[in-house]
Amino acid sequence: VRRPAIGLSGIVVVDNVARGPAIGGIRMAPDVTLEECLRLARAMTLKNAAAGLAHGGGKAVIAADPRMPAAAKEAAIRAFAQAIAGLDDYVPGPDMGTDERCMAWIHDEIARAVGLPRAIGGIPLDEIGATGWGLLAAVEVAAAAIDLPLAGARLVVQGFGAVGRHAARFLAGKGAVVVAASDSRGAIVDPQGLDVAALDALKRAGRPLHDHDRGDRRDGDALLDVPCDIWIPAARPDVLTSDNVGRLRTRLVVEGANIPATPDAEAALHARGILVVPDFIANAGGVITAAVELHGGNERTALETVADLVRTNTASVIDNARRDGVTLRAAALRLAEDRVRGAMALRRWR
Ligand code: NAD
Repeated sequence: VRRPAIGLSGIVVVDNVARGPAIGGIRMAPDVTLEECLRLARAMTLKNAAAGLAHGGGKAVIAADPRMPAAAKEAAIRAFAQAIAGLDDYVPGPDMGTDERCMAWIHDEIARAVGLPRAIGGIPLDEIGATGWGLLAAVEVAAAAIDLPLAGARLVVQGFGAVGRHAARFLAGKGAVVVAASDSRGAIVDPQGLDVAALDALKRAGRPLHDHDRGDRRDGDALLDVPCDIWIPAARPDVLTSDNVGRLRTRLVVEGANIPATPDAEAALHARGILVVPDFIANAGGVITAAVELHGGNERTALETVADLVRTNTASVIDNARRDGVTLRAAALRLAEDRVRGAMALRRWR
């Protein structure tokens, strides 16, 4: 995609549309590449299929600094929208460097985008906690599979942002005891249980968890050593590696963040009999909410659909993994690929 008159240069990859129109974010960054766009588009095909959505995968990148002046950004996004108007198998969403305002501009141009502001039918997924709500569904199914009652289960949450704090809140509502939590400034630990509502209020007020008046203040790394039943990474990629994963003392890891564990680390957990629900099954609440929004659903339908699909998919992946003696990630990838190939077999052009 090129509009030399305004210096616009970008790429759209529509990876697969066998299951339906491709949904995938637009990333704006100075250093984006075709290869990155291809990989992200394929990841969206698998993520949408794994989530059980009737959507394919795509992705777009715009080579520009997202902090450019607002008027220039609006001009670039609107020009980009016009350039992709004919690609009606691709529905753009927000990604790094783009937000709900950008999606509103695109929708204004071509009547096609997800992740819109509430004022024009968008479902604000971070505000309603859609991804945390999906994590609750994944945890409920996975905990039942290892005979772990949620009432009294000890929970550790790394990262207390849009994903982590909602997950902690929903799980505490089921009787789980949050024994440790962290943010970018450090961890707070209390084996007797932290006050989740108070932690949530601190974060909403823009304050660090260390301001909490209960528990011990530690550095973030200490979270790995806290004995628990459920460990939820909800912050950064690659926090669990083969060097540190041996320190985890838990029965279940449910991945809220994207790729929080290296393949080696996941293999080590599997070898120790610790169940790991992979990111694209457990954190699918965001993509599911986007699909519900696209089809005109409201916030209530979104939460019902998130719980329903994440629950079904987690159960299928656990069953398939146990049957085939593989990791949940391998079973999830196979499930997604089977769904995509099954849909492709029904199309004329395979
Ligand atoms: P966020 O910015 O709202 O929150 C991130 C939290 O992690 C913050 O509390 C921050 O202080 C904390 N943090 C940062 N570095 C940390 C560190 N080193 N140790 C501990 N905590 C740290 O982000 P988010 O939307 O909650 O996303 C978190 C992760 O989940 C990301 O990997 C994101 O890609 C993934 N994810 C998010 C969604 C969603 O719906 N928001 C959906 C799928 C996946």
